Amino acid sequence: MGLALRHAVRTHPGLVRERNEDAVLASARLVAVADGVGGHAAGEVASATVIEALAELPDDAPLGDALADAVRAGNAALRQVVQARPQCAGMGTTLTAVGFDGDYVVANIGDSRTYLLRDGELTQLTRDDSWVQELIDAGQLRPEDARDHPRRSVVLAALDGEPQRRPTVTRVEAQPGDRLLLCSDGLSDAVEDEAVRDALGREDREAAVDALLRLALDAGGHDNITVVVADLA
Ligand code: MG
Repeated sequence: MGLALRHAVRTHPGLVRERNEDAVLASARLVAVADGVGGHAAGEVASATVIEALAELPDDAPLGDALADAVRAGNAALRQVVQARPQCAGMGTTLTAVGFDGDYVVANIGDSRTYLLRDGELTQLTRDDSWVQELIDAGQLRPEDARDHPRRSVVLAALDGEPQRRPTVTRVEAQPGDRLLLCSDGLSDAVEDEAVRDALGREDREAAVDALLRLALDAGGHDNITVVVADLA
């Protein structure tokens, strides 16, 4: 068998929210997490709509622009949902997605995240489209203070059906033995990178994903929590 993404997935409403508005997809060549927002259950609709569009990706061919095209299709589908169901107006969703076609193709919009654990080192592959990230980039906020910032949940870009929405797409060289982590901010806002790295480093990926979920719940579980751990093997 060739190299594939071998994954473990957990998604949990957390300890405060009534609903789980995160959505997740995991296959041998594509993993994705979406975190929806919007009243009247529309957040769930938004994240599920985009994840369904990604699930349409063909299973074999090189990815090329296919992942970005699938995101565009998902965004267009959101627009159709809003037109058909006005009560969904204002809904939107983040997306972080990794396709594997020999390299990783990473597509991201919003503040869900993809990390790479390689040789014990944790690297964030995505950049948040968020207010606090802008402050960090401008030198006005230290990264270690971001989790405590009162506006940490302000997202500056998301998929919401507006045609100009585009994910940031990057191609990252892949190595066998890599471990990817995709998560919603229910994990990354709540848990420090060092604790994430230690939990992610557990050899068994099911144990790793359980440990990560546990960390987020122990930190209060204030938001929906979705975690995907994928090994390239
Ligand atoms: Mg969230």
